[in-house]
Amino acid sequence: MLGSGLIKGLAETARNFVGSFHDPARLPTVEYPEARLPLPENARNFPFLIYDGSDPEQGLRCVACKICEKECPPQCIYIEVARDATGRALKHPRVFDLDISVCMSCQICVEVCPFDAIRMDTVYEIATADRFQPLLLHKQDLAKPNAYYHQIHPAEAAATDTRLAADAKRLKARATPKPAPPAPARVDSTPSPRPPPQVPEPAPV
Ligand code: SF4
Ligand code: SF4
Repeated sequence: MLGSGLIKGLAETARNFVGSFHDPARLPTVEYPEARLPLPENARNFPFLIYDGSDPEQGLRCVACKICEKECPPQCIYIEVARDATGRALKHPRVFDLDISVCMSCQICVEVCPFDAIRMDTVYEIATADRFQPLLLHKQDLAKPNAYYHQIHPAEAAATDTRLAADAKRLKARATPKPAPPAPARVDSTPSPRPPPQVPEPAPV
């Protein structure tokens, strides 16, 4: 019958509306922004940089290897390596910029980072009327503590910490000099004296 789908839909809405008076679970509307649905563990939008300890600058895990910059498909990461007074490159980014107006949330930067230094954030309330400056995030905006990572992706962060601890233990064991093996039992290798050459007896005359 023409319009039967519409009538069924309206009946279902009315049934849930009336039922919600005694069962609030039947009222699925969330009063955002006062109320929010919890995000799932794998939710993601744009990347952030992890730092250990309390110093967002010194504790950055990023060593400015630039692998993420090279692999990012839309090329929205820009990194400059920090240098000391002699111009020697330090394992630290002086500049780490991320243009989230271009980022497509593919997570490739996370997958290629060998140092577990970059992860996907879940912040989504970043709408702005200015399409340029507020959407260009700098190192200071991107740096967030490992505790924050544990808060938004607890299972993934715990697995990362376990792996990093195992790697550190393995490196430490490799760097610790091993005790010298016991000296082998001494074998007297002095050659035994040769017997004196046999001088033939002179033939009788
Ligand atoms: S985030 Fe990772 S891949 Fe990117 S520069 Fe830093 S250490 Fe290298
Ligand atoms: S999520 Fe994808 S697009 Fe965004 S910075 Fe990482 S690699 Fe680039």
